Amino acid sequence: MKHGRDFTRELGLAFQVAEYAIKNKDKLSTKYVAHLGLKSVIANQILRKYGRNKKIKVISHIKLAIPSQGIKYNSGIVNIPSLKLSISFCKSFQKINQIEIDDEYAYVSATVEEKPQYTPQKSIGVDLNTTGHCAVVAVKETGKIFKLGKKAEHIHKKYKNMRKSLQKRGLYKVVKKIKNREQRIVKDLNHKVSRSIVNLAVKEKGGLKLEKLRDIRKTKSRKSFKYALNSWSFYQLAKFIEYKALLAGVPITYVEPAYTSKCCSKCGQIGKRNDKHFKCSCGHVEHADVNAAFNIALISPRIVQLQEEKGFLQAESDTRQKATQRSYATLEPRVFRHGSMSEDLKSKIKRFMQTG
Ligand SMILES: [Zn+2]
Repeated sequence: MKHGRDFTRELGLAFQVAEYAIKNKDKLSTKYVAHLGLKSVIANQILRKYGRNKKIKVISHIKLAIPSQGIKYNSGIVNIPSLKLSISFCKSFQKINQIEIDDEYAYVSATVEEKPQYTPQKSIGVDLNTTGHCAVVAVKETGKIFKLGKKAEHIHKKYKNMRKSLQKRGLYKVVKKIKNREQRIVKDLNHKVSRSIVNLAVKEKGGLKLEKLRDIRKTKSRKSFKYALNSWSFYQLAKFIEYKALLAGVPITYVEPAYTSKCCSKCGQIGKRNDKHFKCSCGHVEHADVNAAFNIALISPRIVQLQEEKGFLQAESDTRQKATQRSYATLEPRVFRHGSMSEDLKSKIKRFMQTG
């Protein structure tokens, strides 16, 4: 979340402490950097981070790190006395482990309680790689269908056009800005869509079924809507669903995606797909994404057979699936903001260090 404060001075000091820690790995005590003037509770964290890790040789993105003992919490307000900073934080958690602060954002890392998983009464298929929505959800047992996040297509088109015209005019800085704005809007939408999906699963007492992520590009070629395809937003949504499901005790499983959009969800035969329409020789006609979502909810024996024949279900793919699941389970519900320090902050720190 944005903290709305100017911590240029503190970040500059932290930068100096980090530089010290990299050079003096044997003298990691706050007394050696006390003269710089950074609060010792923060300096200590920086010394530990940069001094104890042998791999860190350059400081790419400096943040102020505040450990749990330097954080107070009272009814929705996080208070950091060493920085005289208060931010509202209305989320349920067990414990705040650390807060990191850069020039714009505060990153709260908290331990949250996972609910024990219930036994699913229904099977809910979630197709994320759809032609016009963020997600199409189908409840196998009741036949209910939910199409979520229609706005995404519109958002993507709008920003794509904006970027194109700005690029033509050579306004690359604005392009970057616009890109960031789009990412924020999509992230917000992904939070809402994932929340709806998990709430739906809880209400229906259903287990969520998602496609395994690895083969999506290989097995699906959908021309009309390449938004989710090849896009970080698609993976972000999958991650959001995953961690919200984990916290809510919703069982989640991953299925092999091969043939889920090619086969009929009623009879299992390979049907004809034309953009958004799916048609099978058994007479079944449905929206293509809805058909896929029902297949994901319950993979028919015919699809399993096809997957086996084409080598999609070999041992090798099983280990890869496990790897995917593991990396997903360790993901923290945190802000997805990576990369190095902004040029703006770098120059601010430089200026600060020059003037003392
Ligand atoms: Zn059919």
